Amino acid sequence: MSHRLLIIGSGPAAHTAAIYAARAELKPVLFEGFMAGGVAAGGQLTTTTDVENFPGFPEGIMGPELMERLRAQSERFGTTIYTETVNEIDLSSRPFRFKADSQQGSAEAVIIATGATAKRLDIPGANDGELWQRGISACAVCDGALPAFRDQTLAVIGGGDSAVEEASFLTKYGSKVYIVHRRDELRASKIMQHRALNNPKIEMLWSHVVTEAKGEDFLQAIRVKDLKTDEERDVPVAGLFFAIGHIPNTAFLSGQLDTDDQDYLITKPDSTQTNVPGVFAAGDVQDKKWRQAVTAAGTGCMAALEAEHFLAS
Ligand code: FAD
Ligand code: NDP
Repeated sequence: MSHRLLIIGSGPAAHTAAIYAARAELKPVLFEGFMAGGVAAGGQLTTTTDVENFPGFPEGIMGPELMERLRAQSERFGTTIYTETVNEIDLSSRPFRFKADSQQGSAEAVIIATGATAKRLDIPGANDGELWQRGISACAVCDGALPAFRDQTLAVIGGGDSAVEEASFLTKYGSKVYIVHRRDELRASKIMQHRALNNPKIEMLWSHVVTEAKGEDFLQAIRVKDLKTDEERDVPVAGLFFAIGHIPNTAFLSGQLDTDDQDYLITKPDSTQTNVPGVFAAGDVQDKKWRQAVTAAGTGCMAALEAEHFLAS
């Protein structure tokens, strides 16, 4: 099948792009993935509960419901959606040819909105069906304000900008926040370090790792190990936030697009255009800094408008 516009992904970026492209009568086809990057169709928000910061929902909305609504809006204007992963794409000449799970085709323009997957630590107690999303999260900005974390002791794992930013953010809600870092110096930028280290609510656990999450129905404590002494102890906490980095879902592109040293797609300033004309990137796959549903949706809108201009010219 040959298409005018192929959209790969199914988070807020992909569906916002689809809504705009369908309304512009580009007849987009959207491949939403089948557990691509370990995430269900609908993207990262399908892995969370309340989303309280997406504009338009003053009472908040459950992540999966928000994504169902975005999907329905894409379909309403005529987007064709396939529940398949795009496994290969050839961007060397137009039309761009691609192979998905059960079909192949070509497209005049492509929007890549395959997102990123937050890294999770594989420790006892922290997996799906255990305490994941019951006190354990990979997004403090998203989940930190939940009532369960108010005035509680919390912990963040990591030593980068995300970890110190998230720990500082959590001090607005928690009574105390530990940063558990595996080394005795932070990777974070100096200004962010300064802010965290001077915050009286933040305590560093240098050269420590978390070895277990403990609790019945909700997190109650973490077991930490001091890497210098090998001593282990339990630290009571009501919240544990992983801030150990993300992996952008770009492997299927086989290096055909310019990326930074962490494999995030590079787009031109104030644009979603990649280094290949006609190929646009939106959402977390090209954004390692903001990583919010609303910013992903914003760049999805930009990508659709840029694709429309490209196809018209
Ligand atoms: P993603 O949501 O990452 O979705 C990309 C989709 O593309 C995935 O479903 C993936 O399976 C699919 N895909 C990947 N590769 C392929 C392929 N080759 N073919 C087809 N499909 C593919 N943000 C907020 O603003 N508010 C919140 O409250 C909030 N809570 C969060 C809670 C958690 C636990 C997490 C992890 C994140 C949260 N975020 C929140 C961040 C937000 O989810 C992301 O910023 C946003 O989802 C990024 O959207 P995206 O469109 O870039 O892609
Ligand atoms: P980083 O990759 O920079 O940091 C990840 C941190 O997690 C590191 O300190 C690393 O430790 C630690 N870590 C990784 N794996 C493990 C593990 N298995 N166990 C324990 N610890 C682990 O990711 P970030 O998300 O912090 O930042 C990503 C990018 O986004 C950076 O370029 C950052 O500058 C940028 N960013 C900028 C912000 C800002 O400017 N406001 C805010 C947030 C992010 P170690 O140091 O030992 O490797």
